[in-house]
Amino acid sequence: MTAITTTSQRVHTLLIGGQDVPGGGDLLDLVNPATGEVFAQCHNADADDIDTAVRSARNAFDSGVWRDMPIHQRAKIMGRFADLLEENMHELYRLETLNNGRPITETKAQITRLPEWYRYNAALLLADRDAVVPMAGQYHSYTSRFPLGVVATLSSFNHPLMIASKSVAPALATGNSVVLKPSEQTPLTALVIGRLALDAGIPPGVLNVVPGLGPVAGAALVEHELVDKVVFTGGTEIGRSIAVATAKRFAKSTVELGGKTPVIVFDDIPVQVAARGAAFGGFVGAGQTCIAGTRILVQRTIYEQFVEALVDQANHIRIGDPSAKDTQLGPVISERARDRILAYVQIGVDEGATLVAGGHAVAVPGLDGYFVAPTVLANVTNDMRVAREEIFGPVLVVIPFDTEADAITLANDSQYGLGSSIWTRDVARAHRVASKLEQGIVWVNDHHRLDPSSPWGGVRNSGQGREGGWESFHDFTHVRSVTVRTANDDVDWYGGVSVERLN
Ligand code: NAD
Repeated sequence: MTAITTTSQRVHTLLIGGQDVPGGGDLLDLVNPATGEVFAQCHNADADDIDTAVRSARNAFDSGVWRDMPIHQRAKIMGRFADLLEENMHELYRLETLNNGRPITETKAQITRLPEWYRYNAALLLADRDAVVPMAGQYHSYTSRFPLGVVATLSSFNHPLMIASKSVAPALATGNSVVLKPSEQTPLTALVIGRLALDAGIPPGVLNVVPGLGPVAGAALVEHELVDKVVFTGGTEIGRSIAVATAKRFAKSTVELGGKTPVIVFDDIPVQVAARGAAFGGFVGAGQTCIAGTRILVQRTIYEQFVEALVDQANHIRIGDPSAKDTQLGPVISERARDRILAYVQIGVDEGATLVAGGHAVAVPGLDGYFVAPTVLANVTNDMRVAREEIFGPVLVVIPFDTEADAITLANDSQYGLGSSIWTRDVARAHRVASKLEQGIVWVNDHHRLDPSSPWGGVRNSGQGREGGWESFHDFTHVRSVTVRTANDDVDWYGGVSVERLN
C-alpha cells in the first residue's frame, strides 16, 4: 500500500513534471469551514508556474511516453491508479471533508466510487472501435482518433475529487496530458491524487496539479496557447468567458456551470415519499451542488401537505461536525457564502415568500464554522429572484402548479437547464414529462445519481458539453479520416482520365 505522506503536512507544494515545486504567489490559507480555522497552507501558482506546468504537460505529450504507449499498457496503469485510490481512500475521505466541510458520510458515498471513473474510461479505451466509412468508389476509408494534447481542468470547491476525476479520467485514458487547477479553497486531495498517479506509473508531466487563484492561475491556464481543451466547472459568468477565450484559438471547451434544478411533484405520489426525495435533492452538500433540487414545483392539490412534510424533514436534519458519522448537514464553504445565502433568504421574504423553515445561521457548540439551517420558502412564484437565481446553499423554494402542462412550462422557464427530477407513480406520465424537459439530466423518483457511463451536462446558462459516457471520452480526441485507394491502377489525373474513371 502506498502511504500518503502529504496529508499531515502544513504546507503543500505544486506538482509539476512529477516534482514538488513552490509557487510564485503568496501562500494560500486553507480554512476548515466547520471551525473557521486555517489548518494548512498551500503554494499558489502564478502565471509563470502555469506556463511551466503547461510546457511540462506538452513535453510529456510530445515525448510520446503516454500518448504512444500501447493501449493495453495504458489501461493497466489506469487500473493501478484506481487501485491506489482505493487503498488510500480513508485518508482521502478525511482530507476532503476537512477541506470542504461536507459530512463524512456524504464524502464516503461520493468518493468511494471514484476509482470507477478511472476503470470505466480505461475500459472504454480497450472497447473503442473505429468506423469503416462507406465511401463511394474503390476506396477503403476509416476513421481513427488521436488525443488533443494538453487538457486543462479547472474545478470547483464543492466536490473536489469527483469533479476533477470526471475529466481527468477520460483525458488520461485517451492519451492526453493534463494540468489540473483545483479550487484555491480545496486543493489538497487533488495534490494527493497527482502523487498517486505517479506511484501508479503515469509518467511525470502527464498529470500536473497547480493550485492557484482563479483570476491569476486559472486565467493564465485558460489563455495558454498550448492548452487544447479546457474543462471548467464553476460559475456561469466565468464559464462564459472561458468558452469565448478557448473559441478564439479553436480550442475545445466543456463548461459545467450553475443550475436551478426543478423538482416536479405530482399528486399521485405519497406526500412523505416526495418530501423525503425533495429534502435529499435539495439539502445534500448543504445545497452546494450544481444539481441541487432547489426549485420544487408541487401540484396544488397536495401543496399544503407537501410543504408541511418538507418542513418536518428540514427541521429534523442533524447539523454538526462534518467529521462525525451521524452528522447530516455540515457548514457551507465560507463566511462569505453563508452571508450571501442568508441575504437571499431576506430577498425572498421581501419579494413576498413565506419563510417556513430555517432562514438563519446555526451555532454548533465547539465549532465556529459557517452553518446555515435547512431553509424552506413557500408561496414562491417562478418570477421571484429566489426562484431564478442560483443560491448555492440549503434554501429550497416551493411553487404550486395546476396541470402537467403547467409543470413542464415552469420547469423549462429558467436561464438554467442542468437537471430535473420528476416524482410520480404514473409511469406513462414520467416518460411523457421527461421527454418535454429541456434539461441535460432527468431523474424519475430519485435525484443526484451519477455514473461514469451516464452523460452529464447542461443547456442554456448551465453550460455546454458533456462529462461521462462515450460522449465525453470521444471529446478528448480528434477524429481523423483515413482513405486508402484500392483500385488496381494508379492515379493519373493529368493523363486524360475521364470523370467517370475517377471512381
Ligand atoms: P468558481 O467559478 O468560483 O470557481 C471554479 C474554478 O474556476 C476554481 O478553480 C476557480 O479558481 C476558477 N476560476 C475563478 N475565476 C476564474 C477566472 N477568471 N478564470 C479562470 N478560472 C477561474 O466556482 P465555485 O464557487 O468553486 O463552485 C460553485 C459553482 O460551480 C456553482 O455555480 C455551481 O453550480 C458550479 N458547479 C457546476 C457543476 C456542474 O457539473 N454543472 C458541478 C459543480 C459545481
